[in-house]
Amino acid sequence: MSGYQEIHAGVTCIDVGYVRPGFAAAWLIREGERAVFVETGPLPSVPGLLEALRASGLSPEAVEAVIVTHVHLDHAGGAGELLRHLPNARLLAHPAGMAHLTDPSRLIAGSMEVYGEALFLDTLAGAVPVDPARIDAVRDGECFRLGGRPLTMIHTPGHCLNHLCVWDEVSRCLFSGDACGIAYPECTVGDRPFLFPASTPTQFDPEAYVASLRRLAALRPAWLCLTHFGPLPWSDALAGDLEEMVSRYRDLAISLDESLPPEAWTTALTALTQARSMELGGTEQAMAWLQGDMTLNAQGLAAWKKRMTRQGK
Ligand SMILES: [Zn+2]
Repeated sequence: MSGYQEIHAGVTCIDVGYVRPGFAAAWLIREGERAVFVETGPLPSVPGLLEALRASGLSPEAVEAVIVTHVHLDHAGGAGELLRHLPNARLLAHPAGMAHLTDPSRLIAGSMEVYGEALFLDTLAGAVPVDPARIDAVRDGECFRLGGRPLTMIHTPGHCLNHLCVWDEVSRCLFSGDACGIAYPECTVGDRPFLFPASTPTQFDPEAYVASLRRLAALRPAWLCLTHFGPLPWSDALAGDLEEMVSRYRDLAISLDESLPPEAWTTALTALTQARSMELGGTEQAMAWLQGDMTLNAQGLAAWKKRMTRQGK
C-alpha cells in the first residue's frame, strides 16, 4: 500500500512515507463530517496527512482531535506542526507524555543518540513544540466522542510508560501504536504476519508488555491497526506469536552479560529473530527488512537488563 486507503467504513490507513513505503502509518477516523487522526508520523509526514484529509472530502476544520499513542517521534513528531493546520483540533496524549510534547528538546536529543545524527536528520527531522493550551491529558478508560462514536483510551505500558491504545468499538479496530508489536508486509509468510515486539529504548518492560497485550486481546478486536505497519485481521494465534517473542526477548536479555558491547546484543537478537522467523516458514532474506529494528530493539533490551541489575533483580 502507498498513500492512503480506507480499510473499513470510516477508517483510513495513511502511509506516512517514513523510511520506506509500508513502514509507518497514521490513521484517519471519520464519523459523518467529523474526523480524528490517530498518530501523526514524524514531522515530514504532515503534508501527506493533510492530503489524505482533503482526499476524504473533509476540511481541516472538521478534525476535532489528534490522538498520539505515545511521544516517540515516529508516532508524534508531527503533532505540533499538524495542529497549526487544524484550527479546531485538540491533542490527546497520556499525561506522562505531556512535557515531551510541549518541549521536545530532550526527546530530540535522545532520539539523535539512539538513531545517530545523520539518520535522525534524514528521517525524523525534529519536532515543533505543541501549544500547552491545546493538549488534553487522557487516562486509561477515558473516552473521546467523535459525534456519537466512542473512542476509548487504554493505557498500555510495556513499550513505554506513556503508551495509549485507541479502541474504536464501532469498527472494532484497535489502534495499537507499538503495544502489539511490529509486522512488515515484506515479512508476511502466506497469510501469517511475522509479529515481533517493539523494545525500543528506554522504557521497555517485558512483563508490562505481556500484561498490556492480554488486556487488549480481551477486547476481541476485528482489526489490529499497527503503526508499523497497517491493518491485520486479529487472531489469538497472532497474539500468541507475539507473547512468545516477548518471552524469548526476555530470556535472551537475562542470558546476556550487560557489559557486552551493543553490537553483540544486536547480533544475538538478530539470530533469535531469524530463528523464529524460519520456524514460522520465513526466509533468511526477510531479515534484511529488520536490521534497523534489531539495532533499536537490542538497545532497548540492554537498557532493560541494566535497569533490572540496578534494581537487584
Ligand atoms: Zn515507540
